[in-house]
Amino acid sequence: MPVDPRPALPPLRDVIARHGLAASKALGQNFLLDEQLLDRIAAIPGMPQGGRAFEVGPGPGGLTRAILRTGAHLVAVERDQRCLPALAELQEAFPDRLRIISGDAMQVDARAEAGEGAHIIANLPYNVGTPLLVGWLSAPWEPLPWWASLTLMFQMEVAERIVARPGTDHYGRLAVLTQWRADARIAMKVHRSAFTPPPKVMSAVVHITPRAAPDGIALRHLERLTAAAFGQRRKMLRQSLKGLPGAIDALEAVGIDPQRRAETLAVEDFVEIARHLGNATR
Ligand code: SAM
Repeated sequence: MPVDPRPALPPLRDVIARHGLAASKALGQNFLLDEQLLDRIAAIPGMPQGGRAFEVGPGPGGLTRAILRTGAHLVAVERDQRCLPALAELQEAFPDRLRIISGDAMQVDARAEAGEGAHIIANLPYNVGTPLLVGWLSAPWEPLPWWASLTLMFQMEVAERIVARPGTDHYGRLAVLTQWRADARIAMKVHRSAFTPPPKVMSAVVHITPRAAPDGIALRHLERLTAAAFGQRRKMLRQSLKGLPGAIDALEAVGIDPQRRAETLAVEDFVEIARHLGNATR
């Protein structure tokens, strides 16, 4: 018999009140309680029934429930021990499809816990959102990473930096390090009033899907290059890249005018310069 993906559950507000889950600012807690909105977020990756998912920071379990309603198998890591009794109730409702890990997502081996091909979905705590993203983006690509997609809520400003196009104010390291081997888009804007308590700024859900990485590029070369180029983003490349051995030669080899500024270069230009840097240091 197919599993009922929608067992009756108490309203999230009741769960929060019963377990005394007053939002902690230090843990970046802004809860989402609107089940329709949560279902729309959980639908973004387009997971098949029985797909695998990994969630960071389930909190009282709103997004967790929505992910489970898609029919997915889910591993979720929560740092706030106060949330564990509420999450244990959810585990009882979905005994075969939910596993909760009590701990810090920065320390957990997500690949080992969630397994190959998992979709990562999270309403991220603001203070660890970017380091977690960078960690997932830095995973080995063989020819794809272990995760199938990232569906992540960020503050709008961070979301804009991830999807930014060349020539815009938000274009920088995060855009290049994301887009050189993945497609990234803002899948949904979320008004601050959707959260309890409302944060100061607007938010957005970013959807990232990996592509096969271009051949012969080491991530470390791209990281050094973008750090130098955008470290002094208003300067010409011939100035900002002066301290990076081989970079000016690489610019010439690729045919990029050293008088240009970093923000005018396409992601593909950075990839080509990094390729030359790699060849030069081989
Ligand atoms: N998923 C819930 C929702 O959408 O309503 C809660 C989202 S809230 C923005 C962030 C959650 O991440 C909180 O439950 C917080 O306790 C948890 N958290 C914060 N830092 C964490 C960390 N390092 N590892 C795991 N969870 C963390």
